[in-house]
Amino acid sequence: MVHKTNRNSEIVIRVSGLSNGFHEYNFSAQSKSIGLDGNFQETVEIHSELEKTSHQIYLKTKIITAGRFQCDRCLDNFDQPISTSYSVCYVYNEVDGERFSSEELQVISPDTVSLDLTEDIRQMILLSIPLKLLCSEDCKGLCPQCGANWNHRSCDCKQDKKDPRWQGLQDLLHH
Ligand SMILES: [Zn+2]
Ligand SMILES: [Zn+2]
Repeated sequence: MVHKTNRNSEIVIRVSGLSNGFHEYNFSAQSKSIGLDGNFQETVEIHSELEKTSHQIYLKTKIITAGRFQCDRCLDNFDQPISTSYSVCYVYNEVDGERFSSEELQVISPDTVSLDLTEDIRQMILLSIPLKLLCSEDCKGLCPQCGANWNHRSCDCKQDKKDPRWQGLQDLLHH
């Protein structure tokens, strides 16, 4: 069996020869080196806790980074912190993994040398991008008439409709 290895990957845990018990790992990876680009420029911080027994390797991984996105409402760019975690149970045969849900389970060969977490981490970061991207919960958005960003300034067209007192002034100005 051929194991594909990614030479650029920095997020690899060597499991061959690893003693049974708890192990912890910290990784710090550049977004680019794990295949993230564009919205992601920040370093990705990864903390993994691994428990190895003779039948399985249980791995829990926390991921912290940040992305830069465009607000759906006001179109400004803003930084969105990304913090997520996932667990995987690596088993050497399917029977040992019965108590885990299928998405948590990965069957590996008993002679696996190392676990490459790169792809799982990349996927988890992409999945944790919020569906609705807002610079803040109370983003005021853009004026539909003049396009002014209401987070930064107000505009006259907004007041036109709401305050009838302005109407008199408008009439004067137009004569
Ligand atoms: Zn906004
Ligand atoms: Zn306006």
